[in-house]
Amino acid sequence: MAARNPTDKTLGESLRERGVSRRGFLKFCAATASMMALPPSMAPAIAAALEQAKRPSVIWLSFQECTGCTESLTRSHAPTLEDLILDVISLDYHHTLQAAAGDAAEHAREQAMAANPGEYLVIVDGSIPGPDSNPGYSTVAGHSNYAMLMETVENAAAVIAVGTCATFGGLPGANPNPTGAMSVMDLVKDKPVINVSGCPPIPMVITGVIAHYLTFGRLPELDAYNRPMAFFGQSIHDRCYRRPFYDKGLFAKTFDDEGARLGWCLYELGCKGPTTYNACATMRWNDGTSWPVEAGHPCLGCSEPRFWDAGGFYNTVSVPTSASGVNVLAAGAAGAIVGGAVAALAKKQTKTAVAHRQPVTVEELEAKL
Ligand code: SF4
Ligand code: SF4
Repeated sequence: MAARNPTDKTLGESLRERGVSRRGFLKFCAATASMMALPPSMAPAIAAALEQAKRPSVIWLSFQECTGCTESLTRSHAPTLEDLILDVISLDYHHTLQAAAGDAAEHAREQAMAANPGEYLVIVDGSIPGPDSNPGYSTVAGHSNYAMLMETVENAAAVIAVGTCATFGGLPGANPNPTGAMSVMDLVKDKPVINVSGCPPIPMVITGVIAHYLTFGRLPELDAYNRPMAFFGQSIHDRCYRRPFYDKGLFAKTFDDEGARLGWCLYELGCKGPTTYNACATMRWNDGTSWPVEAGHPCLGCSEPRFWDAGGFYNTVSVPTSASGVNVLAAGAAGAIVGGAVAALAKKQTKTAVAHRQPVTVEELEAKL
């Protein structure tokens, strides 16, 4: 009997073949629902949909980048990279991870495109020298990045741009942009493009977007920059645990002063949290261990357009105002009474925001299925 194409199998079948327990699967569904900020009542629907979902063919293209996005993905922990590749998607081509080389590698890409017209996903990391640039600036297998991108997306279902190079041009696109680097959404106009920005992007956000696509058959709700609202809907500042100090006007002045030791706000050390939208404060990095601001370093604003050119990393962003229109630095100087009132307001807002991300336990899920 002829072997079945891996993409013909449902995710449930693949999971069972690989010995993944039902409990492990439900745990993943519960985490995915919480991660996507869906109500717990959606978790059973996610489990049912993923059980029956076909593994989509994925072609991963790497252009002008540092491989940090793939490095980030390989440190994914929920699900692990192994889960992602073997159980959730059929990763048919990946410049960095594939074992095949030369003609065999290119053949894998062409075969995936021919076998799944209109159904495969294209993931891109890295920016692309535009059509008016010298095509020799960046090539793979003799093809310019631009030619390979346009050929590969032609019959794709959707394109997921991962990392700030693919989403906004990133470092290659920083002034003076010698290669004429452009983002995926600058070039691809006739396909859905979803942006998972970040330098690097959070791996669970990449897998969350794929899980959403498999569950609902469409891409999630996006913000003005095509980023999924579930992960980019609130700023770093909205969710920062140092926020009460900001609201009281308590700022570290150097990296080793008393304020820094007491965990005060890093705003005056250049933190771009107030103008940066990403999920670092809630998802955290390295298996949920910590995140940059918790480690004592200001947010660089890596998930925003042109962050390399947006002033120095350690320059303070322009002074914002509080929800009541009061300059917060002035509020801090005016004393703890005003600061305390703003802190209470921020606490209430944070509580409301956190309420959007409701966890569901495996026990609850098992009881429903
Ligand atoms: S400015 Fe930065 S450190 Fe301060 S509260 Fe906002 S995100 Fe946190
Ligand atoms: S804290 Fe800021 S600079 Fe650091 S990874 Fe998150 S968004 Fe990027």
